[in-house]
Amino acid sequence: MPQAVAGDEGLAARLAALTGMAPAACQDAIQRRLMQGFRLRHPETGRPIFAFRLHQFISKASTVYAPLSEPPARLEHLTLRGQVYAPGTDRQLRLYPLEFCRNCGQEYYSVRRVMTRASGETFVARGGAVREESTPEDGYLFIGSPPWPQDEEDALSRLPEGWLEEKNGTWRVKTSRKKDLPQRVRVNGDGEILRDGGGLAAAFVPANFRFCLCCNVSYIGRTGTLTKLATLSSEGRSTATTLLSMAAVQGLRKSDLAPTARKVLSFTDNRQDASLQAGHFNDFVFVSSLRAGLARALQAGPLEQDTLARRVFEAMNLELASFAADPTVKYGQRDRTLKVAQDLIGYAIYTDLAEGKRLTLPNLEGWISCVSSTRTWTRSVVIRSCGSVHTQRFRWCVMESSKRAGGRHVRYWTGCGAIWQLKCLTWTGIT
Ligand SMILES: [Zn+2]
Repeated sequence: MPQAVAGDEGLAARLAALTGMAPAACQDAIQRRLMQGFRLRHPETGRPIFAFRLHQFISKASTVYAPLSEPPARLEHLTLRGQVYAPGTDRQLRLYPLEFCRNCGQEYYSVRRVMTRASGETFVARGGAVREESTPEDGYLFIGSPPWPQDEEDALSRLPEGWLEEKNGTWRVKTSRKKDLPQRVRVNGDGEILRDGGGLAAAFVPANFRFCLCCNVSYIGRTGTLTKLATLSSEGRSTATTLLSMAAVQGLRKSDLAPTARKVLSFTDNRQDASLQAGHFNDFVFVSSLRAGLARALQAGPLEQDTLARRVFEAMNLELASFAADPTVKYGQRDRTLKVAQDLIGYAIYTDLAEGKRLTLPNLEGWISCVSSTRTWTRSVVIRSCGSVHTQRFRWCVMESSKRAGGRHVRYWTGCGAIWQLKCLTWTGIT
């Protein structure tokens, strides 16, 4: 049965446990041995004595670990090797697994709050197995910028709208939500909670993770953790294969091999797997090309709805043969073919921007600024997060206004309805 060299359960880790040597040295020794077996040729057949497979050197990403410190100081201790303390810190800096917001990428430490006789309360690293079956002591530590406000008043603006209620003209947190509020704590590198004002400011978010303290995206009900937070190992096999293949192709382009030899060959024993992977490749190439075209068109200046599809289509610079059934068409037929392709690109742009449900290629809607024209909208509207209540409300407003206008200006209808009734809106840029 094939076994990975690296990784928490890889051969290197097992050899390290048996010999007491450092895992990195064990991994290096195994890889050198495999390479030597590959170089030695059988005297009769002339073939390598041990032809290893590439995937033995590539294992699924595990978890990234970091100590409790400010982001710049954290960098030098980032590691993929799970251990209690960061190496070389004299057991001063405890390591914790990181998880990342699916919407904005903000990192959170996965922790468990425990009582210790010596130092009171301490945060220890949470293992992967307890991720889904969390107890009230389980949660996430947030050390970000700006830090979570000390004062409840200041925190109101960073809470999801659904958590607030108005009473006598002032806004406050709903009583039912108080237990879920992030708790402001101060911690040292060993994870101990300090009460004397020392240490580092952090916010403890009790599990279940209900909203992101950075981008404000919120979740209702029992949404699975995997939908909200990702670890390095969350990526699927199809994405990994796509990215590895792309890296191989990019490497081949720089090589001195003959152009006809620069190929990646893939073998599979399963027709469904081949079909799934082919679909993944196609989707990846299409979405990447589309977004690259949009970015290039934006670099040339602001885009307006009337010219958006044409400008992006031109920026993509597609050859007629790549989309036309008959690339030799001329005159009127050629114009009609180009128009159809352009409309299709227009539809694809709006669909990709509107439906932010992708796990592996999330769109950039969270960073898009829409500025209204003076004719219909008088205020600037900034969409910060596709999942927030504010954005949903904004979408609803646009949809309602579109309905009232009889959908006159809607060119592209998407699964979300006429939310892109953007005749009155001008795209100003993606930052
Ligand atoms: Zn976020």
